[in-house]
Amino acid sequence: MKFELETHHRNIPDEELIEDLIRVAKEIDQDKVTIDQYNERGKFHNTTFNRRFGSWFKSLEKAGLSKTRNLNISNEELFENLIEVWMSLGRQPKYNDLTKDKSKFSSGTYEKRFGGWRKSLEAFVAWVNDGAVPELPVTSPSMSTRRTPRNINWRLRAMVLMKDGATCKLCGATPRDGAKLHVDHITPWAEGGETVFENLQILCEKCNIGKSNVQV
Ligand SMILES: [Zn+2]
Repeated sequence: MKFELETHHRNIPDEELIEDLIRVAKEIDQDKVTIDQYNERGKFHNTTFNRRFGSWFKSLEKAGLSKTRNLNISNEELFENLIEVWMSLGRQPKYNDLTKDKSKFSSGTYEKRFGGWRKSLEAFVAWVNDGAVPELPVTSPSMSTRRTPRNINWRLRAMVLMKDGATCKLCGATPRDGAKLHVDHITPWAEGGETVFENLQILCEKCNIGKSNVQV
């Protein structure tokens, strides 16, 4: 199958395609170019690039614009993803664990950001430790007023994970046994338990559900 419109681009040298991609990047004064941005300003169509180089990302790579692919991903997002992988594996992730089915980002993304896999883990731990003294918001005179939100933020999740390990505190199940782990309020939030490090623990889904049944 072939699209007529594309055929006359077949003879265009790679360099010319790449040059045009770089030109558009300069024109919009950015070091990354989205498909839409290119199609709006480029001489060719993104499908020409995809056919020639395999994908849009590979085209950017050829043009030396690939590093910027993950420019908009914050460190927090990378750390959050690491926590998810950690929880699903039940142990500290290794370089080769960041497969597409388990991880939103590749190990390479971490390497580029932090200068190596080990350094990524170190940066992660430093980030977790940064929140190691959880601040309890100023006590409200009214007991009915919540001091903390119910939602457990990522840093707290990571801290609890580092404290308890990826193991259910009640039954000892781990993801390796097929358990799905949750971060649980020891004193339920509904009963006045705050969302603070001391009141959080790792539970497997079974125990978590069992616990809330007992409460009801
Ligand atoms: Zn359990």
